[in-house]
Amino acid sequence: MTSDTPLPEPVYVTRPLTPRWDRLEPELRAVFESGTLTNMGPRHQQLEHQLQNRLGHGYLSLWNNGTNALVGMLSQFDLSGEVIVTPFTFPATVHAIATLGLRPVFADVKDDDLTLSAESVAERMTSRTTAILGTHVYGNFCDTRALASAARESTDQRVCVLYDGAHIFGRSAPVFEEATDIGDGTILSFHATKLYHTVEGGAIVTADARQHERFLTARNFGIRGEEQVAGIGLNGKMSEVHAAVGIVVLEALEGELARRAELAATYTARLRDLDGIRILSGDGTFHQYMTIRIDGDVHSGGRDKLRHRLLAHNVVSRKYFFPLCSEIEAYRHLPSASGLKVAHKAAEECLVLPLYGDLPVSVVDYICDIVADFAMDG
Ligand SMILES: *Cc1c(COP(=O)(O)O)cnc(C)c1O
Repeated sequence: MTSDTPLPEPVYVTRPLTPRWDRLEPELRAVFESGTLTNMGPRHQQLEHQLQNRLGHGYLSLWNNGTNALVGMLSQFDLSGEVIVTPFTFPATVHAIATLGLRPVFADVKDDDLTLSAESVAERMTSRTTAILGTHVYGNFCDTRALASAARESTDQRVCVLYDGAHIFGRSAPVFEEATDIGDGTILSFHATKLYHTVEGGAIVTADARQHERFLTARNFGIRGEEQVAGIGLNGKMSEVHAAVGIVVLEALEGELARRAELAATYTARLRDLDGIRILSGDGTFHQYMTIRIDGDVHSGGRDKLRHRLLAHNVVSRKYFFPLCSEIEAYRHLPSASGLKVAHKAAEECLVLPLYGDLPVSVVDYICDIVADFAMDG
């Protein structure tokens, strides 16, 4: 395989982690034979418990997708007015704010890791701000300490600090090292495109037991006990079918992480010293995405040029996150949508390369050849 000949089949950025059918089949059969298909049955409880143990601290509630977890989380903090949010995220983050009738206010990101900048947040805080919502990007945690200080110091009212950790489960290290990393609440996504998945699924994590109770109630239409409807809620429950898949996929997680770590090491060794190319994927412990940033000052228009060249070789890379959320129709009229210089540049320069356990290392080498050629000749 040389980089002159295209691959025979397209290679995509990811493939869902697929457990062995002989493991999955009896689990699914058992679900249907049990007659309990949903409503927080035994598999829902088991998976929630296993994920809670993996997390090691705080309280985890299992949800049916990351977006509902976001809406559910935001709905349980008595928020009003403005929520400061990063534009460098998946649309669901900002949609969750707008869905609840709150006003998104964009702040810029930090150039080194593309997470929400506490400095920019502090500039956007007003007497109407009631929450900050940051996204952990490519395995880089937000500067949780700086954001917590910005929340405390910039106004008199209480400001919640919340996180979209949708793809943070791709770290080989524990998901959160310290309780403080959770902020007031953090969501996870277990969508099929994420490293760990339940086909569709998600979770809310919090360090506060009372807040956790509110999330549990909100997940089930606001119903508490048999007859009491304690508040407004939604249907955030995960089905037994999805939970069963999640239990089996969890068994395969360590193997997947190990294979991805090897591939990521190959990528890193080959791409690390290329001119005008920087690897953005966390500190080497993150294996959800292999993201590179192509410096537009070194390679003018470079990201899109490289993307097309890869595509011509049947390698399908992704511009993640592009467009910025501040550029999409629903939000670009907002005053805060302009002047996000760092985020704008990043959205023009980032490219996600294929990474998943079944990807042959020869294909990684093939992709690296193309990137290396590009870095040399432009
Ligand atoms: C995937 C993703 C979501 C949405 O999660 P779903 O489970 O697909 O609803 C939200 N935010 C970010 C940053 C994501 O990557």
